[in-house]
Amino acid sequence: MNNFTESQERLELRKAVADLGKKYGRDYFEKAAKEGRKTTELWQEAGKLGYLGVAVPEEFGGGGGDIGDLAAVCEELAAAGNPLLLMVVSPAIVGTIIAQYGTQEQKERWLPGLADGSSTFAFSITEPDAGSNSHKIITTAYRDADGWRLKGTKTYISGVDEASHVLVVARTEDARTVPPSPDGLGGTPHLKPALFLVPTDSKGFTYNEIDMGIVSPEKQFTLFFDDVLVPADALIGSEDAGIEQLFAGLNPERIMGASFATGTARLALAKATEYAKERQVWKAPIGSHQAIAHPLAESFIEIEMARLMTQKAAALYVSGDFMAAGEAANMAKYAAGEAVCNAVDRAIQTHGGNGLANEYGLVQMLAGSRLSRIAPVSREMVLNFIAQFSLGLPKSY
Ligand SMILES: Cc1cc2nc3c(=O)[nH]c(=O)nc-3n(C[C@H](O)[C@H](O)[C@H](O)COP(=O)(O)OP(=O)(O)OC[C@H]3O[C@@H](n4cnc5c(N)ncnc54)[C@H](O)[C@@H]3O)c2cc1C
Repeated sequence: MNNFTESQERLELRKAVADLGKKYGRDYFEKAAKEGRKTTELWQEAGKLGYLGVAVPEEFGGGGGDIGDLAAVCEELAAAGNPLLLMVVSPAIVGTIIAQYGTQEQKERWLPGLADGSSTFAFSITEPDAGSNSHKIITTAYRDADGWRLKGTKTYISGVDEASHVLVVARTEDARTVPPSPDGLGGTPHLKPALFLVPTDSKGFTYNEIDMGIVSPEKQFTLFFDDVLVPADALIGSEDAGIEQLFAGLNPERIMGASFATGTARLALAKATEYAKERQVWKAPIGSHQAIAHPLAESFIEIEMARLMTQKAAALYVSGDFMAAGEAANMAKYAAGEAVCNAVDRAIQTHGGNGLANEYGLVQMLAGSRLSRIAPVSREMVLNFIAQFSLGLPKSY
């Protein structure tokens, strides 16, 4: 990024991805969701054209770009009506972690498929009893003569039915014995995570679909690991550097989550603007009334601010300033979550009764837009982060 504009290369990438997105369009996404199909054709074409692997190093079959490029792909597809959660998970979180911390053998084995879209990976950290407090996760990896055994449960995990593997955040048996934290607040052991790539056809691994109200071909699942045996080389990176590795994946996750939201917000605003220009119930189009025009103008501003912060977060991440990138990625995620909720809500209001009719494609976006205030990190946890780390306020929880 230069002088607050993206590079020519990035802009061309956006244009090419937007064209691909338009070729499929929102109808394709909604029809797939309705019929219980996946967006496989789009995923495969995006992979073939190099968009999914744009941030994977060239030596492993990728485009050699960075997280800003991948976020641009995610945003443009979402703006064309195809918000792909698996983009946030597979190339962004899992791809980044393997590219940065995998062994040479792991990189050669996993990254080319990840780049061309032929392999898809899910990512699981959330647990029913831990929720936002990842320090409380109890999925545990036990050493075994043949590798590792995993026991535990994860929930709200996206795309497991489409994935060849799940990257599982677990604590190792030793780390489970870490004494309660000295602050005395509930005796939560500090998390010392390790990351394991678990094949979805492993013995002892099962998953159940959660009945969600989100209109999307991508589904969420509760996962059960009943003594699942994985080989020693399923451990990604180092057993002792898990927290650093995890954060290497979580900042890209937030940047991608923000792009997922700003793309969807752009789509809602475009629909609202178009409608406001045409719909006339008194003497002039409804968009001439400031009660309609101002909220849409506010959305335009909110979306642009969120996009700018997302680009800043990506640039800081690429520069290697991970703490500053963390702050910016959290702020981008927050701003984008607010922007998309407001944009979808205002677009519905602009459409009046039509806003709630399936034909106009807005009511279907409601639950998906709310997701951006909850995952991958909730707005409250972002505010906690900013209060504690940016403002230096005492931690309250
Ligand atoms: C559609 C969807 C897809 C998802 N995909 C994945 C995935 O692929 N992989 C994965 O690992 N997870 C995934 N998740 C899980 C998601 O990351 C969590 O839902 C999210 O982190 C919030 O956790 P929780 O649902 O347990 O809420 P809880 O932790 O139970 O929180 C409930 C509410 O309380 C608030 N709260 C909690 N603690 C505090 C506090 N200290 N201060 C202030 N407020 C607080 C939260 O902000 C939230 O509003 C997905 C979730 C959804 C809905």
